[in-house]
Amino acid sequence: MTSCAHYSPYAPPSRSRASAPAPTMWTPDEIAQLCYKHYEIRLPKQGKPEPNREWTLLAAVVKIQFPIYEASDTPDKPVHVTKEVVSMGTGTKCIGQSKMRKSGDILNDSHAEVIARRSFQRYLLYQLQLAATLNKESIFVPGTQRGLWKLRPNLLFVFFSSHTPCGDASIIPMLEFEEQPCCPVIRDQDSSLSLEDSGNVKTPENERKHEDPDGPVTKKMRLEPGTPARFFTNGTAQHGKQDSGSFASGVRGSNLTVERLADVACGAPRSATVVDIYRTGAKCVPGEAEDLRKPGAAYHQVGLLRVKPGRGDRTCSMSCSDKMARWNVLGCQGALLMHFLEEPIYLSAVVIGKCPYSQEVMQRALIGRCQNVLALPKGYGVQELKIQQSDLLFEQSRCAVQTKRADSPGRLVPCGAAISWAAVPEQPLDVTANGFPQGTTKKGIGSLQARSRISKVELFRSFQKLLSSISEDKWPDSLRLQKLDTYQEHKEAASAYQEAWSALRKQAFASWIRNPPDYHQFK
Ligand SMILES: [Zn+2]
Repeated sequence: MTSCAHYSPYAPPSRSRASAPAPTMWTPDEIAQLCYKHYEIRLPKQGKPEPNREWTLLAAVVKIQFPIYEASDTPDKPVHVTKEVVSMGTGTKCIGQSKMRKSGDILNDSHAEVIARRSFQRYLLYQLQLAATLNKESIFVPGTQRGLWKLRPNLLFVFFSSHTPCGDASIIPMLEFEEQPCCPVIRDQDSSLSLEDSGNVKTPENERKHEDPDGPVTKKMRLEPGTPARFFTNGTAQHGKQDSGSFASGVRGSNLTVERLADVACGAPRSATVVDIYRTGAKCVPGEAEDLRKPGAAYHQVGLLRVKPGRGDRTCSMSCSDKMARWNVLGCQGALLMHFLEEPIYLSAVVIGKCPYSQEVMQRALIGRCQNVLALPKGYGVQELKIQQSDLLFEQSRCAVQTKRADSPGRLVPCGAAISWAAVPEQPLDVTANGFPQGTTKKGIGSLQARSRISKVELFRSFQKLLSSISEDKWPDSLRLQKLDTYQEHKEAASAYQEAWSALRKQAFASWIRNPPDYHQFK
């Protein structure tokens, strides 16, 4: 998709590799629209929600390509930019700890954001292959050191998600006496104050356990579409739809409740009172402070690491808020790909679809918690991620389906499948359920057909294939000078990445749950 935009006065994305500040070249609505269209046209029916009965979540990475800004260009000169979806993911589920496998052939975490990111890694591997072995046009150009590559300077990546990521970014204050800008809050059997469209967040059973008999009466309200909410809003969205810079100092590892936080930091007008918060199904990790679980806004504590909920079984997967915060420091390429890259690959912006949203909460969750992390290796840094919201609703979101289906019989449920799509020529699609390709039988598990293309083992396979197609004298030092065998050894050998990860853990994410090393010993 090519379009025309005008230079705008705003600061560029943090990477200023271009010779002059990169202009703002897209709007949140354009990004959302492009992703919704891609979903509609390029994704198969298989794996999509069943109409009127199921919903899902959508995430994607969009590549923005722009001409290098010339100093002689006038600020209002139109700039032609190309926007292209390079990876996409749908999904709402996460497997429990007991289902994890040491062979790397199951997807532990199938939330849309994570599927989109793993699909993005597949895309990056393919682009490296183009550059390193096929001498074809690629997003990568040779770096300064042997065997290393870097992104072309006129590219950046925008992450789209149809919803606020689960975990910390979803703990949004609801203010009294404001117009409701988005979807109504509907409370019935399978929807609660949890705004995460997380598949396995709540069963009526565990929800009852959490429900506080003293909770605000307003919780019981059912708001119909179009009804102005007198008691509910989507939090502080209206106060901060524009980038409001970072307010994060002092929030990290905080003991603040949402109510106090909204008071001190969110810039909520004095007349607005926090009456409640949207809740997250993600639980605090052991070693962190606990949620207070008090009525209303004092239910959660903010700024904490959280684990995704699983069905009956505890999961080892960190919430999407936590993972995205990590990508903002370490890049979203992961450890393996760093063997071939001169710098990590950062996202320049995150765009969220129409849903309950708070600018301040997003800033805190994705940037603020890591803001003060120091002493990162060369090339790494906490990015000034631009965070914006679109006004366009994803048609298959819980909210949209709920409104459309009106009083259709039966329960509205999250779609159990996850779709991965990557801009690669061979088999771009991959539809999974419970972490395996859809249709995999119990007997089939363990076979080659029963591996998702974005599973650890398959991404490792692609990595090895790339390496073997490059002549050894052109390998990067990190791979040429030592003999590496297992997946774990390859990851550990990405030394700058590991150093950055260790600094991030020490300074901000000490209780991050890591998979035990024996889950990474496959070859
Ligand atoms: Zn999530």
